[in-house]
Amino acid sequence: MNTLPELTAGTPSLPCRLDPEPFFSDEPLERHYAARQCGACPLLLRCRLYALATRQPWGVWGAIDMAAAKTLPTAS
Ligand code: SF4
Repeated sequence: MNTLPELTAGTPSLPCRLDPEPFFSDEPLERHYAARQCGACPLLLRCRLYALATRQPWGVWGAIDMAAAKTLPTAS
């Protein structure tokens, strides 16, 4: 099975490959825009699981803004 980086590298038409800047922007509205672009991505679920499993600290992965996700309360 290919890893997510291998899959994204082999799929240049993904929104995050075509225009990566909004996915790692300092501006929350740009990251929100990027997250909406993930909606039609065939790798959405794999991307989201990869980001959570590898604890990505920043950027939009699988329609999740990791910076915003860090502010959510955790289940206890
Ligand atoms: S779901 Fe992941 S691979 Fe797909 S466009 Fe969004 S960030 Fe890129």
